[in-house]
Amino acid sequence: MSAERIYLSPPDMSEADLVALTDAFRSNWIAPVGPALAAFEAEMCRQTGVGHAVALASGTAALHLALKEVGVGPGDRVFCSSLSFAASANAVVYCGAEPVFIDSERSSWNMDPQRLEDALREADAAGALPAAVEVVQAYGQCADMAAIGELCTRYGVPLVEDAAEALGATYRGRAAGSFGRAAVLSFNGNKIITCSGGGMLLTDEAALAARVRYLSTQAREPGREYLHREVGYNYRLSNLLAALGLSQLRALPGKVARRREVFARYVERLGGLPGVTFMPETPGGTGTRWLSSLLIDAGASGLTSGQLLDALEAENIEARPLWRPLHTQPCFAHCRSYGGEVAEELASTGLSLPSQLTEAQQERVCRCVEKVFGR
Ligand SMILES: *Cc1c(COP(=O)(O)O)cnc(C)c1O
Repeated sequence: MSAERIYLSPPDMSEADLVALTDAFRSNWIAPVGPALAAFEAEMCRQTGVGHAVALASGTAALHLALKEVGVGPGDRVFCSSLSFAASANAVVYCGAEPVFIDSERSSWNMDPQRLEDALREADAAGALPAAVEVVQAYGQCADMAAIGELCTRYGVPLVEDAAEALGATYRGRAAGSFGRAAVLSFNGNKIITCSGGGMLLTDEAALAARVRYLSTQAREPGREYLHREVGYNYRLSNLLAALGLSQLRALPGKVARRREVFARYVERLGGLPGVTFMPETPGGTGTRWLSSLLIDAGASGLTSGQLLDALEAENIEARPLWRPLHTQPCFAHCRSYGGEVAEELASTGLSLPSQLTEAQQERVCRCVEKVFGR
């Protein structure tokens, strides 16, 4: 294996990022709080149009506090998208609650509003509405937020948005992260912007933001004494990482544009291969193409997604299957699921190609795919 490895979604770092990080270091605002933390939060509010932001140690930590603060507690149930990363459901379990999974729709690959409606109607009839609906904005684009928002309003169930993968996406002109009572973002290493590890909670409710800030710093009461009325968490982001996050965030529009260009080049080059269909864009939405994802119909192409993944790996190219649906995970096998066949079909036929790479690297990926198809 001689060719240099091409990664799926490696960090996209600049000289300006390095300067921002070293400036924060030299200022000696290392941790925990400091000016970069407030500036990062303010810039996120400006870019998303949301009133309040709290920078946290990870997207998972942000989800945990978002769910807790909209009222999810022990014994509750939370309706959650099935086609997602485990963190979406793990945070539900951290609250002592149980996830109930909702299938995907084909037009966005995200939560199917029809399935959600069936689940809410049934739960309402049984007098057991969930404590929250957690919608995942998977693969860099929003779900059908008009329908999902309307259902949550109709049934009076709080909506939490897991927008960890969707920073920079919009739906009907509104930013991902601006829907629901609270939303979360992730700045993990493979996300569209990264500060090596970090997350953020967004909300328009000042009181909710203040509670999350308080809980994330060990619920320490203001004042000289170490007084705690509640059990808190050590979930705040460090000022050093916030400086990096702010610098990355300022470059977000360019990063989105470049990922969309990569996606468009794949579609142009590979879209005509038999049985290949690229991820659709949510009606009314503009995604970031965080990952360049596609489906392969084995009947039409004579090739499974697994075979294509093997061929790419043999040429030292990192590609990945889609998320294994959460309702099929052994650790959530006991949880209820509304549908699941669509998510299972997407997962068994889909894969993601590298989405953050040079044109020359993309040429290598395309040639490899064409070769497997005998072109
Ligand atoms: C990455 C991710 C998370 C978790 O974010 P971390 O910052 O890694 O904790 C949560 N949900 C989804 C959908 C993600 O992709």
